[in-house]
Amino acid sequence: MIFDPLELNYSKIRAYLDCPFLYRYIYVERKFAPQTPYSSLGLSVHRALGAYHARPGDLGDLLAYYEDAWLHQGYGTPQESMEFYNKGALVLEKWWTHFQENPAQVIYSEKHFEFPFERWRVKGTIDRVDRLPGGQVELLDYKMGFEDRNEWDVAGSLQLSIYALGLQRALRQQVGAVGYFILSSLQKVSVPYDPVRDAATLDLIRATGEKMLALDMGRKGACARCAIRELCPESEAKTKV
Ligand code: SF4
Repeated sequence: MIFDPLELNYSKIRAYLDCPFLYRYIYVERKFAPQTPYSSLGLSVHRALGAYHARPGDLGDLLAYYEDAWLHQGYGTPQESMEFYNKGALVLEKWWTHFQENPAQVIYSEKHFEFPFERWRVKGTIDRVDRLPGGQVELLDYKMGFEDRNEWDVAGSLQLSIYALGLQRALRQQVGAVGYFILSSLQKVSVPYDPVRDAATLDLIRATGEKMLALDMGRKGACARCAIRELCPESEAKTKV
């Protein structure tokens, strides 16, 4: 696919904010950041949940979707792959029981949106949207729970802010709440949505989009924590051999 600098999404913006060289590596040069066991497991579980919300059924159906969705990349050995597969299956089993006991009116899952903003097109895919009593909706992003999340994280989340804009502008929904559903602890961390933040989110999208267009590489991120530190020509944290 041809690189289109006018097409923005959260992942591109996040990559640029983390490090312009990371953005260039993945989106301009179109190279791949290697999967890790955690990123691979997260993708497999997300795909299974997306399939389940599209075609709900019993636990056996959910686990069959998981098996179909399983990604083998990112694991060092077959044993490691099996260990993570079992972890994911356990998480999904517990989620399924929780979902039966706490049903929700899911109106969208893995829902794509796109809206125009000045010279850009802003796109994204939302994990889940529930209808709230009164007609507004709650936007939920599934997280595996590898990192702690609290209400401050939710309130300050650029990802959720962009998705809330997508829900309003592309899907014409009134957003009442945004949050994360933490799969490992079966906790929903959700806050009322404050549309006052929309202007700041759009300002950030514009400012980042302009820097991307100018290929402004005026800074580096934290190489020691970067997923491509062994591959990046600009890396300051390659393993010495
Ligand atoms: S290794 Fe360093 S310079 Fe390269 S993309 Fe990562 S943070 Fe940026």
